[in-house]
Amino acid sequence: MEGVRRVIEENEEEQFQFLCDLISIKSVTGNEGEAQDFIAKRMREIGLTVETWEPDLLEMKNSYPAFSHLEEKKGRKNVTGILKGEGGGKTLILNGHMDVVEAGEGWNFHPWKGTMQEGRIYGRGACDMKGGLASILYAIDALKEANVRLNGDVIMESVIGEEEGGTGTLSAMQKYKGDAAIITEPTRLSIATAQEGALTFRLTVRGRAAHACVRKEGVSAIEKFEKIHRAIRVFEAERNGRLMHPAYKQTLPFPILIGKIRSGNWDSTVPDTLEADGRFGISPREDILKARRSFEKMIEKTCVKDTFLRRNPVTVEWRGGQFEPAEISPKEEVVQSVARSFSSITGKKPVMEGMTYGADMRLFIQHGIPCIMFGAGDVRKAHFPDEFMPCDELVMATKVLAGTIADFCGVS
Ligand SMILES: [Zn+2]
Repeated sequence: MEGVRRVIEENEEEQFQFLCDLISIKSVTGNEGEAQDFIAKRMREIGLTVETWEPDLLEMKNSYPAFSHLEEKKGRKNVTGILKGEGGGKTLILNGHMDVVEAGEGWNFHPWKGTMQEGRIYGRGACDMKGGLASILYAIDALKEANVRLNGDVIMESVIGEEEGGTGTLSAMQKYKGDAAIITEPTRLSIATAQEGALTFRLTVRGRAAHACVRKEGVSAIEKFEKIHRAIRVFEAERNGRLMHPAYKQTLPFPILIGKIRSGNWDSTVPDTLEADGRFGISPREDILKARRSFEKMIEKTCVKDTFLRRNPVTVEWRGGQFEPAEISPKEEVVQSVARSFSSITGKKPVMEGMTYGADMRLFIQHGIPCIMFGAGDVRKAHFPDEFMPCDELVMATKVLAGTIADFCGVS
C-alpha cells in the first residue's frame, strides 16, 4: 500500500482543487443536478463505470411512507461509479451525499466558493460532505493509478436528498447491493458504529384568555408550559442517567430540545394557547414506540398534578422527521477493516463512538447492510458559517479509505 499512499500525496493539490470546485457549485437540497454532473464527469475520467438516474420520488413516497419532505423537482440525479473487481471478493459501497443546507448569515468566507487558507478549505459543504465525496474519489483513483487489482467491486454512490431524509440513498439501495457500506460523513476520523435516532414533536398547551387587567381570571399557556418544560428537563436527566451505551461517552448523549415556541396574539391578552416544537434524541438500543410512549406518559403525569391541565391536557404530536437510531457491532468486518487500515497508517488505535446526529447510515442497516460512518472534518462545523475541512485530515481519510478498500475487497 506504500505506492497507493504516495499517489494520494502526489495528488493532494489536485484533490484540494477538486473540493474547492465542488463547493463552488451550489447544491442545496433539491438542486443537486449540476454538482452531480460534475462528479459524474470526474468518475468517468478516473475510469469508473458511471450510472446516473433520477429517483422516482412518487414511487419512493409510496414504498417508504416516512418520507414526507421530498423536493419534487426535475434534474435531481443520483450518480454511482463502479470499479469492477477481478472476482471472488466482497463488494464495498462508499456513500456520500451531494446536497447541502442553505448558507445562512455570518460568513467570513464566500459560502459558495471553495477557498483554501492556512491548511483549511472553507465553504458550504466542505465537511458535510463534499470533502467526504472527494476522499472517496481520490482513494479509488489512487488504487487505480497504483495498479492495485481488487477482487471485489467498489461502488461509489453520490446521492441526493440526505438532508431531507435519505431519498437518494434509498433509491440507490434498490439498485445496488453491497456486503458493507461506509458513509464518509464528518466524524473527525473516528469510526462511528452507532447513530442516534431523532424524533420531532409538537406540544400544544392550552390556557384561558382574559384581559391583562384581570389576568388572574385567565390561565396563561406560557406559565403552564414552564411546568411542562421543567418536567422535560427532569425526564431528560433521568433518561440520560439510565440509558448507558458503550458507544456514547458524551455527558448528554440523548438530549431533548425545545427549539421553537409560538404563543399569544396580543400584548395585553393572557395567552390561551402555546405550541412548542422540539427534538427528542433516541438511544440506538431503544424502541421508538416505547420511547414515544414514555414521553407521552411523562406529559400526562405532569398534567394530572395541575388542576387546570388535568381538565385541559397538553397534547403531543409526532410530526416531521422520525429518524430511527441504528448501530452495528464493533466486531463487524467493515469496522475491523477500517480499524486495521487506520492503525497501519497512523500507528494508533482508532476511536470508536456513536454519533449524536442522524444520517443515511440507518437506512443501510435497516436493509441488512452493515454500515459505519468514517470521515474527515467535524460535524460541529457543519450547518454553520465558515464551515471548513482541514486539509491534512482529508488526506488522512483518503489514505485510510484506500487501505480499507484493499483490505475489505481483497487484492489479487
Ligand atoms: Zn451530512
